[in-house]
Amino acid sequence: MTSILTSPVSQLCKLSRNQNIRSQGFGLSYLKALQHRTLSCFALKQRSILNHTHNHTEGSTGVTAQKALSNRRCLLGSSGARGLFGRGGGNAQQQLTLEDIARGIRERDYQRIVVMAGAGISTPSGIPDFRSPGSGLYDNLQQYNLPYAEAIFEINYFHHNPKPFFALAKELYPGNYQPNAAHYFIRLLQDKGQLLRMYTQNIDGLERIAGVPPSKLVEAHGTFTTAACTVCRTEYPGEALRADIMASTVPKCPTCKGVIKPNIVFFGEELPSNFFLYLTDFPMADLLIVMGTSLEVEPFASLASAVRGSASRLLINRDLVGPFSWGSPRHNDVAELGDVVRGIRKLTDALGWKQELDALMAGNSEKVQAPVERTNEE
Ligand SMILES: [Zn+2]
Repeated sequence: MTSILTSPVSQLCKLSRNQNIRSQGFGLSYLKALQHRTLSCFALKQRSILNHTHNHTEGSTGVTAQKALSNRRCLLGSSGARGLFGRGGGNAQQQLTLEDIARGIRERDYQRIVVMAGAGISTPSGIPDFRSPGSGLYDNLQQYNLPYAEAIFEINYFHHNPKPFFALAKELYPGNYQPNAAHYFIRLLQDKGQLLRMYTQNIDGLERIAGVPPSKLVEAHGTFTTAACTVCRTEYPGEALRADIMASTVPKCPTCKGVIKPNIVFFGEELPSNFFLYLTDFPMADLLIVMGTSLEVEPFASLASAVRGSASRLLINRDLVGPFSWGSPRHNDVAELGDVVRGIRKLTDALGWKQELDALMAGNSEKVQAPVERTNEE
């Protein structure tokens, strides 16, 4: 898989942007500074910057590995909460475990849960990684001679040649894939009245299909459910484009003949206005669940550090990422590493919600046989 970190897109980052990150760190002040910025630096080399920061504060990358290992031990080992992260701190608080988080959800100690999710929750649904050679979608895109994979989300390239994007749109258009346990778990949090908001980087719409109401969703990188003419800005429902997209025809505006673009956020475009709900959501959150994301794409990535110190944070992911992997982990940080769906299932079992989740999936899986598309009816 081509790493987004090594793609030529990273060279498009403005130097000033990187300097801002170095000097201001990843806190809320940085996020506020970003409010009116765009995704133009989508693929910045955040990991190397993070490593730089980490080396500066810890002196050795070996410490990260050590902490990752102790984190794993903590999760895989006995229920004894020994405050593994608190070594060296005399007044260390008890290290939370997955069971503690589950108990907090079940007993409604957590009432305002914010979820952040990335591609890792959609790959179990079969959403292809268009950057992976050998995947049908990647091979399909090669015929368009994209200069590099991420060019598909660059607005200048889109104006030059929209066909590769619409080939991707045809693949990802709502209806081709079905949500999995991760999406339905979020729906369950909503049904229980404990979901404050879900922030997703995914553009596959699987959260909506799982029944997460649009008012509870921030689709940070946009959605196919709405679209707009790139010339006269007339807005269209996503459904109006379906026939053209399925026929591999570039949809054109009936009024001005301009190309109609689904409201997917391209590099250099504004984030959706509801993204800025984070300004109130994150300080209010009492539990943050981060799942299936590498936390490499800004400004989404910085959000994980925007919750209060008293808020618990649960990472369900293949690897330790973002604030879970650098600096000093909090006593109320919990990482469940490995397969994301397996992690969700483990949490669901600990909650005693297995039957409810299975029933939800069984009930809804019939409904989504036919393409389900929700518009912003709320
Ligand atoms: Zn138009």
